[in-house]
Parts: sequence; structure tokens; C-alpha cells
Amino acid sequence: MENIAALQEFLKTPRNIVITTHQKPDGDAMGSSLALYNYLQPLGHEVRVISPTEFPAYFGYLPGCDEVWNYLENPSLSQIAIESAELIFCLDFNDLGRIEPLNEFIKKNETAKLVLIDHHLNPQIDAEWILHDTKACSTCELVYRLYEILEPAYVPTKEVSECIYTGILTDTASFSNGATSKKALEITAHLLDCGLNIIYVQEQLNQNGREEKLRFIGNALSRNMIIREDIGIGIIIVDKKDAYRFNLQTGDTEGLVNYPLSIKNVKVAILIKQEPKIIKLSFRSKGEISVEKICRENFEGGGHRNASGGRSFLSIDETIDKIVQIFEKEKIV
Ligand code: 5GP
Ligand code: MN
Repeated sequence: MENIAALQEFLKTPRNIVITTHQKPDGDAMGSSLALYNYLQPLGHEVRVISPTEFPAYFGYLPGCDEVWNYLENPSLSQIAIESAELIFCLDFNDLGRIEPLNEFIKKNETAKLVLIDHHLNPQIDAEWILHDTKACSTCELVYRLYEILEPAYVPTKEVSECIYTGILTDTASFSNGATSKKALEITAHLLDCGLNIIYVQEQLNQNGREEKLRFIGNALSRNMIIREDIGIGIIIVDKKDAYRFNLQTGDTEGLVNYPLSIKNVKVAILIKQEPKIIKLSFRSKGEISVEKICRENFEGGGHRNASGGRSFLSIDETIDKIVQIFEKEKIV
């Protein structure tokens, strides 16, 4: 991060601060936002975390979660908060389109200074301060590094530790994917010294769910999965009917996309999720295969090499055909 002294100086005065993150926030988006919130609030700043959409209820254990505003539930106050903020942190996204319609309010606020903290490829945000590293396992790692930069002697509280750990855990798929690094493990070791209770977070994230969700996963894997080992892909489809039948809640499809990768010859897994107006796509890949490129070039999306997302305006069947055609050409097997 360049010009850190100016940010340190800026934060010496109590400020009106907004922290925002991408639509349908995941563990890293929520964890990094609240890690920063729990750091800045005690310093005397007026801090508001605003999500562009709803977020999974199972993140309710994160300290400060009750204070997060969902723009869709609180549009006027969210707009006022953004338009009057002096400093706006953009966490865990690389393109202002990922926070629609909050991006419009940021544009209207001509005096606010922006800080971008992110680890996705191809950042497109023009910010005053930028902490961007695609090698970081998570945005939570970058928030931890921000503490190191701003205040080397800072010791994360138990609350901050839970937030940071949540993002590291979820973005590394529990220390199993390519984002898992020495730094991720070192930070986790330090957080344990700071009072982090790993079992508590595990219970909250993975042992606190609903029967409907488990039955939904079983149904998706047995009835709605297409495996094409000949072209190296596996697709899972979630349509509106399933969403209704299993009473799907925000976050219930998190992690589902990974299942086809357990098959030896499946190199890319895709989740096709029908939403009210569009189809949301999630891509995961093994090894060197870049799904970021595929999402950017074909589905108005992006992300990381091995985990990306995008959208389709076609029908479910047409979207499947388009994906199959792409991988017939890509020849990943
Ligand atoms: P997920 O599949 O879990 O929704 O997203 C995987 C990764 O791709 C995340 O890091 C997420 O931020 C990114 N991503 C998901 N959807 C989009 C999108 O529509 N546009 C861009 N640029 N990135 C996305
Ligand atoms: Mn992330």
C-alpha cells in the first residue's frame, strides 16, 4: 500500500466511515468487513458496514453482525450513509458493478476517499489507497496485514480474531485449496494466541444447519448433476422449483459447486443457479486451469484462477449448452 502515512494521518481524526463488500457476501466478505469494523469502531470512528444484499443467517455469530445493514432492507439510510461518508472501504471485490446499486451512491459522493482491499484478479477500482494482492489467501489476510502496516504493535482481540479466521477458513475451503499458504497458517497460529476458538467457529459454520439444506444437497447430487468426464466437467443445477421445494435460504448453496471435483476426471465444476432475473454461475477448477478467464470472456464475471463466478441471461438449457460448447473447444482433458 502506497502513501500509508497519509492514511494513518487521516485516521487520527474521528471519521465517518462506510465499509462495503460484494453482493451475497460470503465468509471472507463478512469476515473482512467485520474484522475492520471491530478494529476501527473502538478507535472512535463512526463506522457502518453496508451489504448490497442479504447475507447468510449463519454468519450471525460474527461479532458486530447485528450492526450490518442490508441495503435492500434499509435503502434510504444506506444511501445517506454512503453519500456522507468521508472514507469508504471496498472489501473483497474488484469491480464496482459487484456492489450495485451502491456504486451509484459512491459516485455521487465526490469527496469520499476510497480504500480498496482485495485479492481478486484484474482490479478495476480507482481508489486513493489500494491493498491488493492476488496471492493473499483471502481479503481477511489483507485486513490482518493492514493492522500490521497501520499499527505494528496491534494485538487482535478475540472478536477480530474470529472474523479474520472465518475468511481464511472459508476462502481456503478449510485449508484445502490452492489459496492455502504459509501465511494463512501463520496468521491462524497467531490468532489462536489472541483467543480464537476454532471449535466454536466450526460449530457455528458447519454444525448449526437445517435438515432441509442437507436434503437439498442430497437431491441436487442425485438428480441435478451432469457429469461429462469426456470433456472434464461436472455441472450441478439449482432451479427455482428446488429453491421453493427445499425452502432454500441465502448461503445454502455455498460449497455445493465443489462436489463434482471429487471425481477423478472432472477438472472443472460448475453450479448453475436460477435466480429471479438471471442465472448465477459458480466455477471451480483443479490445478492450472483458469476458470477466471472463462468467466471473464463468456459470462461477464471473474474472480480467481480456481474459483470464479459470472452470470447468464439464457435459459438453463441454453446455459448448459453454452458451457458444454466452451469445454468441447477448451480441451482440458
Ligand atoms: P462464487 O462462485 O463463490 O460466487 O464466487 C467465486 C469467486 O468469484 C469469488 O471470489 C467471487 O468474488 C468471484 N465472483 C463471483 N461472481 C462474480 C461476478 O459476477 N463477477 C466477478 N467479477 N467476480 C465474481
Ligand atoms: Mn475473498
